Amino acid sequence: MKKELLYEGKAKKVFAAEDPELLIVSYKDDATAFNGQKKGTIRGKGIINNQMSNMLMKMLQQAGIPTHFVEELSERETLVKRVDIVPVEVIVRNIAAGSFSKRYGVDEGFRFDTPTIEFSYKNDSLGDPLMDEYHVQALKLATKEEIETIKKYAFAVNERLKTFWQQCGITLVDFKLEFGRLADGNIVLADEISPDTCRLWDSCTGKKLDKDRFRQDLGNVEEAYQEIMKRLTEHM
Ligand code: UDP
Repeated sequence: MKKELLYEGKAKKVFAAEDPELLIVSYKDDATAFNGQKKGTIRGKGIINNQMSNMLMKMLQQAGIPTHFVEELSERETLVKRVDIVPVEVIVRNIAAGSFSKRYGVDEGFRFDTPTIEFSYKNDSLGDPLMDEYHVQALKLATKEEIETIKKYAFAVNERLKTFWQQCGITLVDFKLEFGRLADGNIVLADEISPDTCRLWDSCTGKKLDKDRFRQDLGNVEEAYQEIMKRLTEHM
């Protein structure tokens, strides 16, 4: 039976599942950066991101953070719970990099005493503008209670992942999360957690092992994704 394609994004396709409360996500090798201006392919990325995201989601689930993950179906495909995505990108940072460094004129690598959180409106035509909690509420993207839940989960994700990546010899610099509402209204972690959505630096050498290699044309992009996957599987 041919699955019905519901949505095609920059890095994933979403198909209908037999159960209307579930969806099938299929990960592509396509990569984009700078709001779609830079396009390319990272060979094997879809497989790595699918498997890595699922392993990390399972780990977070065990740590008490609810996620959309149901079952890995194949190398590139995963069954997830159907959610209504909160159109807010949630970014947690431990170390300055990327847009934070640029915005505040602070060196990449500047370590914070406590993690930060920020929100941006998930809207490509507006360029994902930065917003605060009051803006999220004003635009009715999420309620005050939902924002509190999202912040609690986001910081809990950071603590769990920071500890895990440290064991792998990797520094978790920052990452982006997306959350969704289940049919019953409960908030769960959705989307993916991968080198596309996290900054991961080798703890010894500081080498970038994430999508910044693609964004900044640093070369050895495929190798970096493979290295991260190797460290992850060795420490699971
Ligand atoms: N990020 C993401 N999708 C986005 C924007 C950011 O996954 O649309 C991730 C990015 O990979 C990094 C973190 O969120 O790990 C913080 O990104 P930043 O705000 O510094 O933006 P960037 O420099 O990537 O434009």
